[in-house]
Amino acid sequence: MRNLVTGGAGFIGSHLCRSLLEQGEEVFCLDNLSSGQLLNVESMSSFANFTFIKADVVEPIELEVDRIYNLACPASPPFYQADPIQTSKTSVLGAINMLELARRTGARVLQASTSEVYGDPLEHPQSETYWGNVNPIGVRSCYDEGKRMAESLFFDYCRQYGVEIKVVRIFNTYGPNMRKDDGRVISNFITQALQNQPITIYGDGSQTRSFCYIDDLVSGIFAAMNCASDLTGPFNLGNPTEFTILELAHLILNRVQSSSGLNFTGIPSDDPKQRRPDISQAEKLLGWEPITGLEDGLLRTITHFQSLFPEMP
Ligand code: NAD
Ligand code: UDP
Repeated sequence: MRNLVTGGAGFIGSHLCRSLLEQGEEVFCLDNLSSGQLLNVESMSSFANFTFIKADVVEPIELEVDRIYNLACPASPPFYQADPIQTSKTSVLGAINMLELARRTGARVLQASTSEVYGDPLEHPQSETYWGNVNPIGVRSCYDEGKRMAESLFFDYCRQYGVEIKVVRIFNTYGPNMRKDDGRVISNFITQALQNQPITIYGDGSQTRSFCYIDDLVSGIFAAMNCASDLTGPFNLGNPTEFTILELAHLILNRVQSSSGLNFTGIPSDDPKQRRPDISQAEKLLGWEPITGLEDGLLRTITHFQSLFPEMP
């Protein structure tokens, strides 16, 4: 199989590329390196089947491929809010360009959508049938509405042109290869704990998230890509065990044995108050469920971050 992974130098994309290469597949990794890092894919140049293409999904691309994993899009709030118009273009024009490529080549195409399509959810846990509660003009809307429009395009290309699509809605995923300055909660807390700096809790820390370890997510993405052609999703992919942000902070502080204190600051606008996936569709139709608990996953992630701060404990 010739696989195109857009956003392949990012956190999730780099794990996907490596796993495909280890399965003996050919990988074209396309990335504009806006939030990704060459560091994440450098070691893959030892695979003869690996090609890195520095390009932007906002521009059309010609390539002969069998499978397209469309992951290009900054996922961390500080990154996607830094240039919100580019974020919208990435989601919408990126989706059109990848769907057109799929239409021309006959490739199967998977969209990395997000739990953010549910916004600040009024239904809990969130199942795929819930239509969401998104502020269409807020600071998160470039990402949330961009991803919602991308889903809409995926389903229209499927209905109108018969393109083979798969849509996965990813819930907060973490692990090695996240940037130190990524800005998301787990990388922030680990980085701060390792440096004995205050842990920045936005709001009172009572908001919840459900954290999925990267290896579990990658196996879910493969399960979705390889499922029967009449199954399109959307499939929620995530770990349904829910934690408050304050609980997460204490878990990390205990693991790192840090002397950091807690620094409560303002809550960002439209920050969802609760999030937990209902994964019964993925369990039933994909035979998938996550197997890594948060404590285990954090330990592996902390080990990765320790290697970035060699002088730290
Ligand atoms: P990331 O920021 O680490 O990776 C995104 C990658 O896309 C980066 O390498 C970046 O340089 C690249 N990129 C951004 N805009 C681009 C463009 N216009 N053209 C080409 N490349 C571009 O984020 P991630 O956590 O690896 O997320 C990957 C995908 O999964 C994203 O689409 C994101 O929306 C989705 N997702 C992630 C999570 C999560 O918890 N990690 C949750 C929901 C959805
Ligand atoms: N958060 C926090 N401190 C940080 C970073 C994030 O308290 O240093 C909170 C944030 O307000 C949100 C949760 O952690 O409630 C998850 O934030 P993240 O940016 O990781 O993901 P998202 O909000 O997109 O789910």
